[in-house]
Amino acid sequence: MIKAQRGTKDIFGDEIATWHWIFENAKNIFQNAGFNEIKTPIFEATELFNRGVGDSTDIVNKEMYTFSVGGVEKKETSITLRPENTAGVVRSFIEHNLNRQSPPQKFWYFGPMFRYERPQAGRQRQFHQVGIELFGIKEPTADVEVIMLATDFLNSIGLNNLTVELNTLGCSKCKDGYRKSIKNILAPYLNELCNDCKIRYEKNPLRILDCKNENCQKILEKDEIKEIILKDYICDECKEHFSELKNYLDELNIRYSVNKMLVRGLDYYNRTVFEIKSEALGSQSAVCGGGRYDGLVEMLGGTSTPAIGFAMGVERLYNLVNKITPQKTDFFVVSNNTKEAIKLSQKLRQNNKSVEFDLQKRKFTKQLEKAAKTAKYAIILGDDEIKQNFYSLKNLASGEQTTIKNFEELINYYAK
Ligand code: ATP
Ligand code: MG
Repeated sequence: MIKAQRGTKDIFGDEIATWHWIFENAKNIFQNAGFNEIKTPIFEATELFNRGVGDSTDIVNKEMYTFSVGGVEKKETSITLRPENTAGVVRSFIEHNLNRQSPPQKFWYFGPMFRYERPQAGRQRQFHQVGIELFGIKEPTADVEVIMLATDFLNSIGLNNLTVELNTLGCSKCKDGYRKSIKNILAPYLNELCNDCKIRYEKNPLRILDCKNENCQKILEKDEIKEIILKDYICDECKEHFSELKNYLDELNIRYSVNKMLVRGLDYYNRTVFEIKSEALGSQSAVCGGGRYDGLVEMLGGTSTPAIGFAMGVERLYNLVNKITPQKTDFFVVSNNTKEAIKLSQKLRQNNKSVEFDLQKRKFTKQLEKAAKTAKYAIILGDDEIKQNFYSLKNLASGEQTTIKNFEELINYYAK
């Protein structure tokens, strides 16, 4: 038997109602804030992620689904299944000259992402992200807008006990000084760092703070190193930006804690970075990761445009929310006259009611049993009903039966 690939999952049955509900809440919250949905392709040129996610990241180094496609002409192109969606949205933003519209330009998305990682609870190879990207605003108003929408969306799906962790990485100026200090203080330990961190040391030393390796963690815990990490290296301008953001968050009663170790996985972040976590999720505790990426648009060939966004793991949200009970259909048409049952079903559906009828010409009692399981009402179309042109309507919860004169009355009765 052929089975689903490791790290992938079929989503069906009772789960679907909750998935739709999560999607609808995202749509409401983000559209109410003037964000437009964007659907970018599932695959992109590999180079987009190499540059746009960054070649010191785990994503690019270990987790990408990359393959070559040739076609008849055998002109090989390397493509990659998107591991995240910021790079794709930025590519689209540049390609369609969306910077010509007046800022801010605001987008939200919902869709599958692909990362080749070790599957475990809350970690899959195909998973879904919902997220937003906001372009064109360098002021902290954009930062608060994005964090506020993240928490509003989480609240809308009943998640209000989550912690927002916040940090500022500074701008390219202050980041450079920090990078140098981190490199200096870690230089004596270079041989003890894991192989990944040896590479990070050269390419993006800040990412070492994010390393999950136990030995690297131990080194980072050393007093003289901690001191450097926690030292205030942020320039005045970045400090002002960060403190304005914090003031707005205080004003909105959004609880947060500043975590100076928070650097986040992607290479392109600057200034504000944040993560939202739930203790209830165990070791895969992050439901949301976001940050500012003022340099990315230009780096990918567009005109310099500040930007900020976040992405949330939908499977992790799914695990946290109270599940939605799937709705029963409005009606089940119970009849031995299949032709009449079909005609009535179509008419009801055209009036925006959910209806099923018996496709197997089963006995009346069997049809009623099925109806009781799946529908709110049975419409009984027996010989008398058809001959004399009326409906018998049975409330399947109470068992109560009513005679309904015509189609219009049926619709009105149901509406009540
Ligand atoms: P983690 O540290 O858990 O690997 P990350 O930093 O790689 O997270 P991001 O790239 O910031 O994650 O993605 C944002 C969110 O997407 C995460 O907070 C998480 O909820 C979700 N996510 C990331 N990778 C996976 C995965 N493999 N399976 C399920 N959800 C994921
Ligand atoms: Mg990861």
